[in-house]
Amino acid sequence: RPMPIATVDPTSGETVQKFEPHDPSEVQRRLARAQQAFEHLATTSFAQRAGWLRAAADLLEDDLATAADMLVTEMGKPIAQAEAEVRKCAKAMRFYAEHAEAFLADEPLAAPESVGARRASAGYRPLGVILAVMPWNYPLWQVVRFAAPALMAGNAGLLKHASNVPRAALYLDTLFERGGFPAGAFSTLLIGAGDVDAVIRDPRVRAVTLTGSEPAGRAVAATAGAVVKKTVLELGGSDPFVVMPSADVAKAAEVAVRARVQNNGQSCIAAKRFIVHTDVYDEFATVFAQRMSALVVGDPRDRATDVGPLATEGTRRDLAELVDDAVARGAEVLTGGSAPDRPGWFYQPTVLAGLTPDMRIVTEETFGPVASLYRATDREDALRIANGTDFGLSSAVWTDDAEEADWFVRHLDAGAVFVNGMTTSYPELPFGGIKNSGYGRELAAAGIREFCNLKTAWRG
Ligand code: NDP
Repeated sequence: RPMPIATVDPTSGETVQKFEPHDPSEVQRRLARAQQAFEHLATTSFAQRAGWLRAAADLLEDDLATAADMLVTEMGKPIAQAEAEVRKCAKAMRFYAEHAEAFLADEPLAAPESVGARRASAGYRPLGVILAVMPWNYPLWQVVRFAAPALMAGNAGLLKHASNVPRAALYLDTLFERGGFPAGAFSTLLIGAGDVDAVIRDPRVRAVTLTGSEPAGRAVAATAGAVVKKTVLELGGSDPFVVMPSADVAKAAEVAVRARVQNNGQSCIAAKRFIVHTDVYDEFATVFAQRMSALVVGDPRDRATDVGPLATEGTRRDLAELVDDAVARGAEVLTGGSAPDRPGWFYQPTVLAGLTPDMRIVTEETFGPVASLYRATDREDALRIANGTDFGLSSAVWTDDAEEADWFVRHLDAGAVFVNGMTTSYPELPFGGIKNSGYGRELAAAGIREFCNLKTAWRG
C-alpha cells in the first residue's frame, strides 16, 4: 500500500500539506550529486568535517522552536519531548565531531615477520554513498544518529524518510549543507517505499541502513543481499522490563510508565512486557495501572499532556487489533483498552494482564501506550518469559541484588540490559539488537565503524 507523501496532523487526521515525489530524473541528479560530494569529502580532514558538523549542530539548536513544532505537527509527540529530541541531535553531532578521528584511528597490528613484513596496520576508510531508510517515530534523531557518524567518516548520505514526515525530511535535506558540507553530502530523496529497490541497486550506493518494521527490513536487506551491499537493520522490539522482589518497586513502577509511554508509546526500545516476580506483582500492578490511568492524554502542544496521538491511522489500527484480540481471548484490562471518543488517532494508556500464548500481543510488538503484565514465579521463570520472544533489542531489570543483576545481564537475550533504569539511547553507548530486532550497531565507536572499509596495510 503506497503511502502518499504528506504531512497529516495526527490530532485531527487532517492533511496539512501534500508533496510531489521526486521523479526519476531528480533521483538520478541527487545520486550523482551525492557521489560527487563523496569524492569531495575524501579530500577533507576530520577537523574540517567536525567544523561543519558543529556548525550544523548550532543551526539546529537555533531552529529549536520551529524544528520541535514541525515534529509535533507531523507525528504528534508532546512538545517537551520534541524539544528534547532536537537537543539530543545537536549533542550527538558534537559527540561525533569530537570523537570520530579517535574512533577511526589506524590500528597498528602485529606484523607477521616470518613472511618479511616490517609493519602492518588497519585503517577505517569511508565506503561511499550510504542510503538511509528511516521511520517517523523520531524524525530527526533516527536520521542524525546515522548522518553524524557517516559524514564524519567521510561517507555521503541519502535519506529516504517515512512518507508521513516530509517536512522533517526536507529540513534535513539542507541542514548539513547549511553547516558547510559540500552540496549533496547529505540529501533527501522524496520517494515512496516502492522506489527504494532501484536506489539500492544503483552502483553509486554502497550500503544501506534501515530503522523500521521487520517487513521493511527484510525487503531492503533482501535487495541489498542480491547486489552484495552491507546493511544495518534496527527493527522492532518487545523489550522486557523485569522487576524482582529486592527492587524499589514504587520507583520501578514510576519509571515503567515513562519507559512505556515515551514518544506516545512509539519507540522500538520502549519497555513493552512487564515481568514481575510474584512476591511484588500485586504491589507493582496496582501502582503501575494507577499511574498509567492518571496520564493526561491530549493535545501534544499542551505542556500538561503526557501522551499525544499515535502518528498514523494505521499505527492505531494495528495497536487496537492487538488489544481487541487479547481481550477477546480473555485478557484482563487493568486500565484503558480502547480509543477515546475524539478526533485524531489517540489511544488510551492501557495495561493488560492474564495473557496467554494464543494472544497475538504475546509475540507481536505493541507500538503505542499499551503495556503487558506477566507474573513470574522466580528468576528463571522471569528470564524464560523475557527471552520468549523473536525480538532482542534492549531489556531492563530491577533488582538490588548485585549477583542477580549480573545473572540477568549475562542471560537476557538482547542488545542491551539496563539495570535499575529504563533503556535510553546515548551517543556514548552502542545501540542495536539481535534476533528479529536486526543486526549491526549504531552510536559509539561501533556505529561509525559499520560503514567503513577496514583496510589492512602490509608493508614489506
Ligand atoms: P515501516 O517499517 O513500514 O517504515 C519505515 C521506513 O521504511 C519508511 O521510510 C518506509 O517508507 C520504509 N519502507 C517500508 N516498507 C519498505 C520496503 N518494502 N522497501 C523499502 N522501504 C520500505 O514502518 P511503519 O510506519 O509502517 O510502522 C509499522 C510498524 O513498524 C510499527 O507499528 C512498529 O512496529 C514498527 N516500527 C519500528 C520502528 C523502530 O524504531 N524500530 C519505527 C517505526 C515503525 P514509507 O513511509 O514510504 O512506507
